[in-house]
Amino acid sequence: MSAPKNYQLSEAYERRRLNDVQQYAFLENQPNYSGDHIVSLAADLFGTSTALVSLVEKDRQWFNARIGLDRCETSRSVSFCSHALASEDVLVVLDATKDPRFVENDLVTGEPNIRFYAGAPLITPRGYIIGTLCIIDGKPRERFSEADCQRLKALASLVMDQLELKRLTEAQKAALCLSRATHDGIINVTLPETITYANLAASKILGYSRQELIDMPMSALLPPDIVLKVNAAVTRFTKCGRDYAALRAFETTLTTKSGSEAPIELTASVWSADGAVQIGIILRDVTERKQREASFKMLFECNPIPMWIFDAKDLFFVETNNACSDLYGYSKERFLELSVFDLKPPEDHPDIVNNINMMASVYEPTDAVSHLDSMGRRLRVLPYARRITHQGKECILAALIDVTERERAAIELKNTRIFLDAVVESIPSMLFVKDVQDGRFVLINKAGENLLGMDRSDIIGKTDFDFFSNEDAARYAADDRSVAAGQELVVIENEPLSTPKGVRSLRTQKVGVRDSDGKPLYLLGISEDVTERLAMEQKNRHLSRHDILTDLPNRVAYQDLLNSHLMACAAERNELSLLLVDLDRFKAVNDSLGHQAGDEVLRKVAERLLADKEPNDIVARLGGDEFAIIKPLRHAKETAQALALKISAHLAEPIALDGQHVSVGCSIGIALFPQHGTTADVLMRRADVSLYRAKEKREGGFCLFEASMEEKAERERVLRNELRGALGRNEFRLVYQPIFDASSGTAVCCEALIRWEHPVIGSISPAEFIPAAESTGLIREIGRWVLKEACLAASSWPANIKVAVNLSPLQFGGFQLASDVTSALEGAGLLPDRLELEITEGIFLQDSEENIATLQQLKALGVHIALDDFGTGFSSLSYLRSFPFDKIKIDQSFVKGLPHSQDSLSIVRAIIALGRSFGSTITAEGVETLQQLALLSDEGCDECQGYFFARPLDPDTVLARLAPSRLRYGALS
Ligand code: C2E
Ligand code: CA
Ligand code: CA
Repeated sequence: MSAPKNYQLSEAYERRRLNDVQQYAFLENQPNYSGDHIVSLAADLFGTSTALVSLVEKDRQWFNARIGLDRCETSRSVSFCSHALASEDVLVVLDATKDPRFVENDLVTGEPNIRFYAGAPLITPRGYIIGTLCIIDGKPRERFSEADCQRLKALASLVMDQLELKRLTEAQKAALCLSRATHDGIINVTLPETITYANLAASKILGYSRQELIDMPMSALLPPDIVLKVNAAVTRFTKCGRDYAALRAFETTLTTKSGSEAPIELTASVWSADGAVQIGIILRDVTERKQREASFKMLFECNPIPMWIFDAKDLFFVETNNACSDLYGYSKERFLELSVFDLKPPEDHPDIVNNINMMASVYEPTDAVSHLDSMGRRLRVLPYARRITHQGKECILAALIDVTERERAAIELKNTRIFLDAVVESIPSMLFVKDVQDGRFVLINKAGENLLGMDRSDIIGKTDFDFFSNEDAARYAADDRSVAAGQELVVIENEPLSTPKGVRSLRTQKVGVRDSDGKPLYLLGISEDVTERLAMEQKNRHLSRHDILTDLPNRVAYQDLLNSHLMACAAERNELSLLLVDLDRFKAVNDSLGHQAGDEVLRKVAERLLADKEPNDIVARLGGDEFAIIKPLRHAKETAQALALKISAHLAEPIALDGQHVSVGCSIGIALFPQHGTTADVLMRRADVSLYRAKEKREGGFCLFEASMEEKAERERVLRNELRGALGRNEFRLVYQPIFDASSGTAVCCEALIRWEHPVIGSISPAEFIPAAESTGLIREIGRWVLKEACLAASSWPANIKVAVNLSPLQFGGFQLASDVTSALEGAGLLPDRLELEITEGIFLQDSEENIATLQQLKALGVHIALDDFGTGFSSLSYLRSFPFDKIKIDQSFVKGLPHSQDSLSIVRAIIALGRSFGSTITAEGVETLQQLALLSDEGCDECQGYFFARPLDPDTVLARLAPSRLRYGALS
């Protein structure tokens, strides 16, 4: 309206002008009948060929109405009208060829050969020139009067009104459509305050029909404060004189017809129309937005993830949620007093501001950061942040994922892994993991590398087929498949494995490792190299059943072997012989030469037995110097006896020991299956009985079992039992056999000999029960009784008669014997030199040094010591030197052969010479004939004893016969 007279076509003006042209652009393709009438009126009125309504856009002009021109548009550069835009005045060009602005113009130089032009501007209600109504002619004119200009201008404003009318009609149509289509309620109020229009949406929001709304006063709908605001806007509008005033949007609640509250965003504008002030009110239903806001608040407040909003400028917190308080330990109120700095550890402070300024609109963390809670504890947090505008301020909203525990768990997991790796590496067994699908190794430990002799880099990714023979690898693969298919741990014992160190035996435990769906993924195996252990077990098994010294089967193995052989023999109706071999003089060798020599003897004996046996025979060592041979054969008796003979001869041969030679000899007992028994126990017992008898028979013998042996053994068993009470029952008595001086014929001594009168069994010989007494240990008690009894008897004899008492080797040992002797002498009041103790070579068989000491003790008491049965026992004579015997008694077996046996005579002579050289008295026992007496006397024997002189006599008879007048043996016979 107040457009300047001359427009500077400034950029800003041109932009707004083009914007206004755009308001009419919708007319380009619409026929404009009234426009057409005006242009033809103008052409007629001014007598031109052409008249146009031209709208000038940025690069072109187009014609809304035209006459006399075929074209609908031209480029702006050739447009005359474009020049008319600069002024509200009419642009008149009388002769274009004379006007420097247009002389070169294409429209002037060429078709339509414009000469005359007059254009009146089309000025919009907003004051912008959007184009012209122009008249054009091919002939130049002399003049175009001011009146013509005014007429053209009037026509131009008529055109403009036309255009505006069309535009408004269009706009009204559009507004109506919009008001129908929009969800916003639109109400028109005409002052004083009556509603004159309401759209459908308004009716919906408020619950009144449109008819009900029309003529309703505004104050009936809007709350009073809003009415006040609207009225204030109206006042502003009327005062300022502008054509339009607007009320800023604000929120309120309206009461609907049904009485419910509707949250509304309300905008209002004020203008005047038809002379009345109009108020347009737009009501936007913000129920949903409110709900959205409420749910956002709820999403924030109650979100289990800690969230906060802080001011992006001062970094103070503006909002925090409950989860945030839980995590950091600050109340919501306290949080609002804090800034980001308070939650960050000091070392992070220098970077905080920069980091926040650099942050893009959205931040997704890659690593956790450290925060401090109210107690100063360090939290590890992933902050997801975004820039937001909150309460009109630039803020940052962050959701904080607490990963403190997760990180700690991850560290723990890592540590656990390190620990497990260390365990896996340091277990001494091979540990491996294979992929179930392709059998490739995915893990192997140090022990595995060592066992396979390969670096793990050469193992991982390969299969068994790369290391082992096809056959082995196929076996492992088959095992693996079956293990992976099952659920159980499978143990494979003694699995052979080829390694650079040779074939090793493994004990392998395998188990399938499955994924969470139970699908087999891996195969885990632990292989223990048990080669050495197996060898050790084998060795132990051997040792447990073999004798260490000789490597022969031991007693345990022997018993099993005997049982199994007996079963086999019984099944095959075969015979079997069992030989028990006992060394005769092993104890002496052991005692005199030491245990090492003894061991050597046993090894040599084992060798000889093995040499003598047949391939199927079994030789075992039962312990000590006792061996056994199992001989499974037909004609058992003959073959067993043959073998026994062979062994006896072989073991009688001297054994060489360190330059010495010893001869042990053996006794052998034989029992046969099935003749002598069908069970191992019976056979063993009977072989043992036979051995016992073989021993009795003296050296180098063997005995085949006979039933009588068992009877004898049984009798010995009974005797042993009966012997226990014999002393208490007073069943023993002593008889005395006198010993005479060979030259004078007078009695010098009486030997006490024990008798056992059993009330049932009858009289039992000492030769039979003394061994039993020795084996039961009763001999000590019995011996003590004999000593006491004999001394008592002797105390009533003439003083020149000694008493001789037999001692068993078992009475030696300890100091008991000396004290027994002393108390016997003292008890009888007998002088020690009247007592003679007869010992045998047996005391030198063991503990000889201790026994010699005892002998010396006894001798020191003043008693005499005689060596009985000389020549029958231990063959070494060295002990004769170790103790000076008072007397040596020639054994009766040598006397028996006299006078005929030359051997016996030689032995008797040798003994007499030996005794003489040691200064001992020589006594011959078992003298039964005069010839024997004469011979012994001639040979220089000092004393004689035997049935030729006297049988053992009961004490009374002895006492009677020892009367001094009858002492000569001639008188006795
Ligand atoms: P010994 O010490 O050699 O005793 C001699 C044995 O020969 C006695 O047998 C005696 O009766 C027997 N005898 C004596 N003169 C003759 C003879 O001319 N011809 C024959 N054929 N025999 C004769 P006895 O009494 O049966 O004693 C046997 C053995 O028992 C004794 O042999 C002795 O070793 C042992 N003995 C006897 N009494 C005792 C004792 O009180 N204590 C111990 N420890 N052993 C005793
Ligand atoms: Ca004797
Ligand atoms: Ca004797």
